[in-house]
This record gives sequence, C-alpha cells and structure tokens, in this order.
Amino acid sequence: MVRRRLEEDEQRLSPFAARSSTSRGRGQPEAPSPVRTDFQRDRDRILHTKAFRRLKHKTQVFIAPAQDHYVTRLTHTLEVAQVARTITRALNLNEDLAEAAALGHDIGHGPFGHAGEEALAECLPEGFRHNYQSVRVLDKLENGGHGLNLTFEVLEAIEKSSKAREDIFAEGWGIPETLEGQVVKTADAIAYVNHDILDAIRAGLITEEDLPRAARTELGQSHSERLNSLVCDIVEASWAATGAGGDPVIQFSPRIHAAANELREFMFRRVYLYDATRQEAERGKRIVLFLFRHFANNPDGISPDYSLPGDPVERRAADYVSGMTDRYAIRQARELGCPEAEGWHV
Ligand code: MG
Repeated sequence: MVRRRLEEDEQRLSPFAARSSTSRGRGQPEAPSPVRTDFQRDRDRILHTKAFRRLKHKTQVFIAPAQDHYVTRLTHTLEVAQVARTITRALNLNEDLAEAAALGHDIGHGPFGHAGEEALAECLPEGFRHNYQSVRVLDKLENGGHGLNLTFEVLEAIEKSSKAREDIFAEGWGIPETLEGQVVKTADAIAYVNHDILDAIRAGLITEEDLPRAARTELGQSHSERLNSLVCDIVEASWAATGAGGDPVIQFSPRIHAAANELREFMFRRVYLYDATRQEAERGKRIVLFLFRHFANNPDGISPDYSLPGDPVERRAADYVSGMTDRYAIRQARELGCPEAEGWHV
C-alpha cells in the first residue's frame, strides 16, 4: 500500500519526469518493495555497497591528501546528489531517480582519480572508462558477482554521466534519455568545478583573484554564491521541463553557460593538468600499472570478491585494481616492492 501511494505521488510530477511505475524495469524481474518505489530501492542498494564505502578513500583531484578538508570521491558524490536533488525537485522531476544515479555515478573510479583511469585504459584492449566501470560494478561485480539488478533508467544515467572537456553539455558518452539523467550529468560538473576551486586554493595552486573575470562577475565572489548562481540559472533556463510549455531541455542561460565553461576550462589549465598535479598523478599511474601487471601475472592473488572467475585474467586484474582505494593501492604496491610507493605515507 505504501509503495502504491508513493507511485501515485509520482503522478503529480512533470509530464516529462520519469516514473518508477513506468520504468523500463530490471534485467531480472523481481517482486517490488512494499514501502519503496523501484528508484528509491535502487538508491538504497547503491548506498549499501562496499564499493560506495570505498569512495571515501579515493581521490577526487588531490591524491591521498594529509589535510582533512580536501574533497574525496565520497564527498564529491554526496554534493552531486544534493545538487541533482535540488534541481530535480525544483523542476518537478523525479528526485529519487536523480539521487540514485548521482550516488552511483563515480563508483567505478579507480584509485588516484583520472590517473588511475588512464593507466587501466592502457592495460585493456577494450580500454577503461570509469562510467562504464560504474555500470559494471553495480550490474555485475557487487552482490557477490550477481550485481544489484538496478533499473534501466538508473544504469543508463550513470553510463552517460561523463562529459567531454569542450563543454559541460557536450555529448561525451551519450545524452541520457531521462531529464533526471541529464540533470545528474550537469550536477556533476557544477559540483566538481566549485569544490575543486576550494581545494586548489587550499593547495596554493590558485587564489580567488585568479578566477576568470566572467566567473566572478556572472557567478559570484564566493563558493556559495557561485554554486547558487549555477543551480538557480539551470532551474530557470530549464523551466520547460516542468511542463510549462516549450521543449524540455536541461540547460543554462547563454551567459551563465559561457561563464561556467570558461571556469571549467580555467580549472583544466590551472589545476587538473597543472605540472605539480600531473607529477603526483604520474606516480599514481605508475602504481596502478605496477599492480595491474602484478595481478595479471599472478591471478591467484586476485580476491574473488572483486572480479568474476570466468573472465580473462586482464579483465579480472583491472576489476580488482580499479576497486582499490588510494591508500590500499599504495600499501599493496609497497608490500609487493614497487619503488614508487615508498615514502608515500597514507
Ligand atoms: Mg563525478
């Protein structure tokens, strides 16, 4: 009865919202929950995975920082979920679907952020992308190798959450079918650009005054002003998504769109691809390569909880290593005699 009431509540959402009662469903049909919609159930399944807990020790940008206030993959994920919930609720879209996809979107990230991703991409003939790996972890590896049997909409939003460098709205790995998936894709960029500014200032790479002029005049002078400007603008510019008339599109107004892209490009230049950041990343990359080679040559050391026994050995090694946190990877590599891991205290 409770689930029925929640599904009826969803009828009040925008005509363009996704509804759990008309979801394309799960890979394996199963009895619905008595007290939760399917999207709420997916959110809870993701939250209770071990892979989700490990996000707390995975890098966002700065690798295994000693200081307590740096963003980790876990706090990033929670910020994305919050931004996505605010936007979907304001636009009368399905907040539960957005929250589920946001919580799962980075679960496939390996240790050392994008450096780990680059390393694993060199190791596998099919390459390695964290968004595909997020789907793989949730759909295949978790739950003792059975996967979580999530709904199509949640998995699709996660797979297509990655963005290309040139534009926040660039197609990248595809545009999600649901508006909620499109909100998550944008909420990811809104969250990371803003919290990475704070971390970059904390690390002494930039100061507030270095930010592009448009970012300061159009978006605001402080973290909260910038975040608020971006969220309010996207709600206003995407108002047609509520069913108020016009094409339902998740977008910024042209002026804020330009300011946000300029800010993101500035972050690529001054922070993400900056020499000192890259040097540390290269070290992380060499550790991942070392671990991959070790486990591909010694598959008996691969824990059966993090890979599928029937898969090729390279795939199993990549699944195992990509599941590691930064600190676990450093410790493992040190124990196995990798010189790069020496003196890195975590
Ligand atoms: Mg992300």
